[in-house]
Amino acid sequence: MNDSIDPDIKERQSLIAAAFFGNCPRCAERTLFDGVMIGGGANFAPKCTHCDLDYDAFNVGDGPAAFITFLMGALIVTLALTLELSLQPPFYVHVLLWVPLTIVMTILSLRVAKGALITLEYRNKAKEAVSAAVKEIVSADEKEALSTDGNDA
Ligand SMILES: [Zn+2]
Repeated sequence: MNDSIDPDIKERQSLIAAAFFGNCPRCAERTLFDGVMIGGGANFAPKCTHCDLDYDAFNVGDGPAAFITFLMGALIVTLALTLELSLQPPFYVHVLLWVPLTIVMTILSLRVAKGALITLEYRNKAKEAVSAAVKEIVSADEKEALSTDGNDA
């Protein structure tokens, strides 16, 4: 843990900057993803190499992937149809253009979406919901504590 980190950095770093550059939500260093640019895909690094914030403790789930799939699908199909209807290029132009563009744009937008979600999770201190079984154990302990208090009085 690096003590020189200003605790207010998360307030000064804008969400958009954090999401676009893959910045750590705590220290704002560019350590959120494994590789530089799209070489590292859209996988989080295990932890921040600067402030040791544990990225594995966060769970952004599949929300970004589903959202990005719909968004990219609509965008690429619209662009492909526009190109086909206006210029009618040979088929290989579509393959050469849209396959790499889809891959690159999907990875980039996944990184942005996951970066935004982990930053929001960190700022709002979001946690997994406590399971019903754990709640039952806790409430049973509370009842026991209340009943022993009643006996003592
Ligand atoms: Zn950090």
